[in-house]
Amino acid sequence: MTDATGTNATLDPPAIILVCDDDPTVRLLARECLESAGLEVIEAENGQEALTLFDQHEPDLIFLDVDMPQLNGFEVCTAIRQTQRGQSLPILIATGAHDNRSIDQGFEAGATQYKTKPINWALLSRDVKYMLRAAEAFAVLKAQQVQLRTLAYYDPLTSLPNRRSFVDQLRGSLEETADHHRTLGLLMVDLDHFKRIHDPLGEALSDSLLKVVAARLEERLGMYAPRGPDPHEAIDRSKLDEMTIDLMRPGGDEFNIIVRNINNSQALTAIASLVLETLNAPLIFSDNHLVLSASVGIAMAPEHGLEPEAIIRRANIALSAAKLSGRNRYRLYDNSLADDADRKLRLEADLRDALESPDQLFMAYQPQVDTTSGKISGVEALVRWNHPELGAISPALFAPLAEGSGLISQLGDWIFKRVDSDIQALKKVFPSYLTISINLSPLQFTQANFLETLKLRLSELQSNNEIELELTEGVIMSDADDSLLKLQELRTAGFRLAIDDFGTGYSSLSYLKDFPVNTLKIDQAFVANLGNESGNSVVRAILALAEALNLDVVAEGVETQEQAQFLKRHHCNILQGFLLAKPIPLQKVIEILDVDFSHMYRVDES
Ligand code: C2E
Ligand code: MG
Ligand code: MG
Repeated sequence: MTDATGTNATLDPPAIILVCDDDPTVRLLARECLESAGLEVIEAENGQEALTLFDQHEPDLIFLDVDMPQLNGFEVCTAIRQTQRGQSLPILIATGAHDNRSIDQGFEAGATQYKTKPINWALLSRDVKYMLRAAEAFAVLKAQQVQLRTLAYYDPLTSLPNRRSFVDQLRGSLEETADHHRTLGLLMVDLDHFKRIHDPLGEALSDSLLKVVAARLEERLGMYAPRGPDPHEAIDRSKLDEMTIDLMRPGGDEFNIIVRNINNSQALTAIASLVLETLNAPLIFSDNHLVLSASVGIAMAPEHGLEPEAIIRRANIALSAAKLSGRNRYRLYDNSLADDADRKLRLEADLRDALESPDQLFMAYQPQVDTTSGKISGVEALVRWNHPELGAISPALFAPLAEGSGLISQLGDWIFKRVDSDIQALKKVFPSYLTISINLSPLQFTQANFLETLKLRLSELQSNNEIELELTEGVIMSDADDSLLKLQELRTAGFRLAIDDFGTGYSSLSYLKDFPVNTLKIDQAFVANLGNESGNSVVRAILALAEALNLDVVAEGVETQEQAQFLKRHHCNILQGFLLAKPIPLQKVIEILDVDFSHMYRVDES
């Protein structure tokens, strides 16, 4: 049953009203009115008693007289507002004073309502109920606000603070660092090759794995007891403050750690080692034995800046350096890393120029020799960059650079056009039996309009010669199901497909038999390892696999006659490497089409 105020008249349990007045008549009348409206009343005859009862009974509203001996109503009100529970409690102040100053004073002390005496008893219970209802609505709002804040600032998966709170906390901590001459550290942790784990596991399991990782890190970092201040150091108050560690998850497979109040970078590298050690511990997860690793970039304030952007950027630079130098390690930022980053930026700008300039970039063509005929049967197109100041720059260096800077589709497009025009220029003498291999970069492969561009640039060429596209294993395996569709599309469009650098990635053999590829290219590293039993057996295994799957095999990086002989003996049908020919201008390839290379791998009987 609800009354006119919308408040449940028979509240269960009834709301408790604390009535505090030194005048027993007021207390009696208040009790009468409120109890008859279904409310429970407790009485205090002075301010001190009111505070005690407030503690013991947790009332829902206080009716408070101002003029009392010892503690007056304003003082009681102020004291209650200072407690956690009293912050949003409705307080009704009653006094004989009518002047504005007293009223202001009442509100300043934290009163919710102000009534002047004599009290209109007929209206009291209604007013009290309105106040209770408003307080209830306020409490609901407040709870919602807390919930919203949680959603806005915490990652729902791990319950760790999210990216927004990371930036807020970093900003706040940096200000504190500056004000108190303290040192702060930021560790950016990025799980190594998480995609390789993510894709086979799927979304839901990967999420649970991230939860496990977060929990492990939280547990270990919580346990990390910082060493006390060095007793030999002069006592410095700020250094006696305890170090604090906060773990956050800005997103994906990244974790950030803010460490406050450290003495030196050693505390940070110790934490980084602990993170690596924690992640390296073997983990059994949904029946898989996993060993995770991570790369960690570290920057500190004030040494590397006092703005969040500066610290984040430098920790990121250190993180990239950790990844580049082989992952599963940490790097502390230093200026030489920034030089590297600057150099990279400059090189990016130069590459942009090179794409516009007529002759900085060009193509070289490395012959591939068919071991059955002894003749050149194809060429691999390899891009070259002759930098105006730095000289020749390897594509192994600038292809990933182009990939990282968004220049790769432009570079890729440039390569298709150039291969096409190089061949058109020699059209009259260019034989149609030569296969032309072109390397694709990982990002190109994932671009939506990629096939259209490819057809647009190469259709004429394709009508005369077979074109083989080289993809690395990593690219194909990173999203095996999606790749399968794409590869099928490329095959349908008439391209041959090769897996480049075979053996270095993580090909799952079950996929390999479904992929519509034509050729495996044995990575140079395996060819270089020929000559000892284990090296020989790896190459033999790859050749046997290729034979079983009915694939062509190209051996890359063939440099010695022994290697060539071994490969020929084990039925490797195509050889590519410096022994036979280096990458050369296309014109030069045409000039040696009649050369017989078989003496280079023939085993002399005599
Ligand atoms: P890759 O596709 O595996 O190319 C083979 C690399 O091995 C080439 O290096 C080639 O010059 C080198 N090589 C050939 N024979 C030998 C040998 O006997 N010994 C040794 N030590 N090396 C040999 P290059 O031209 O420096 O290219 C390196 C990588 O850069 C390529 O590896 C490929 O991944 C990438 N790349 C080259 N050209 C292109 C391109 O046009 N587009 C894309 N996306 N990537 C390219
Ligand atoms: Mg290649
Ligand atoms: Mg290769």
